[in-house]
Amino acid sequence: MKKYDVAIVGAGPGGIYAAYELMKKNSKLSVVVLEAGHSLEKRHCPIDGKKIKSCISCKSCSIMSGFGGAGAFSDGKYNITNDFGGTLYEYIGKEEALSLMRYVDEINMENGGEGTRLFSTAGTKFKKLCMQNRLKLLDASVRHLGTDINYVVLENLYAKLKDQVEFILIVRWKRWKSWRMMASISIPRKKISMRINALSP
Ligand SMILES: Cc1cc2nc3c(=O)[nH]c(=O)nc-3n(C[C@H](O)[C@H](O)[C@H](O)COP(=O)(O)OP(=O)(O)OC[C@H]3O[C@@H](n4cnc5c(N)ncnc54)[C@H](O)[C@@H]3O)c2cc1C
Repeated sequence: MKKYDVAIVGAGPGGIYAAYELMKKNSKLSVVVLEAGHSLEKRHCPIDGKKIKSCISCKSCSIMSGFGGAGAFSDGKYNITNDFGGTLYEYIGKEEALSLMRYVDEINMENGGEGTRLFSTAGTKFKKLCMQNRLKLLDASVRHLGTDINYVVLENLYAKLKDQVEFILIVRWKRWKSWRMMASISIPRKKISMRINALSP
């Protein structure tokens, strides 16, 4: 049985940046990412408006699943704020949370996002206008990559990761023998078994 030091479930942003960080911190670690969806280039929704007009419930939804996760084809807006969009700061504090968001932004800039605009509400005329009218404008910076650059960043991250991190795609979890955790997963043309010591459920 092949052994890995770390198994990451899901190749959304959470899984991708976790793998990226592990690769950077310790190049000797063997890391596997198990993803239920397709690779980025194979992610296609079959709805074409002619033959297929609405969702046919594919086994793996290419809009929500696959390398890049749920927002792979989104507008690529990365919010740098504690004011909305998550509660990470409750665990690690606001400063640390912001610094991690900026760190992810740096990674994106190094991987194809350079030249894109970082917008901010701080010190804007609009903020002043809101204050004058007793409205609270939430504080945020937002990196707007846009759909095309977001895709390029994901492609570049995959290119960097693929030699060091193993990606197993179209994972189907078949059977759980116990809570922590023996799982048999099948991927096209192969069937492999895995024992995973889970860090969290
Ligand atoms: C249309 C759309 C547009 C969006 N636009 C933005 C935006 O502009 N800005 C923004 O900040 N956020 C946006 N979001 C939200 C953002 O995409 C999510 O917050 C982000 O993707 C969450 O990352 P994640 O890694 O936690 O989870 P996900 O991106 O959901 O990734 C989880 C991955 O795990 C896989 N998976 C799940 N269960 C299993 C399993 N049992 N075995 C194997 N694999 C599994 C899934 O297939 C998926 O690929 C958007 C979301 C959508 C749907």
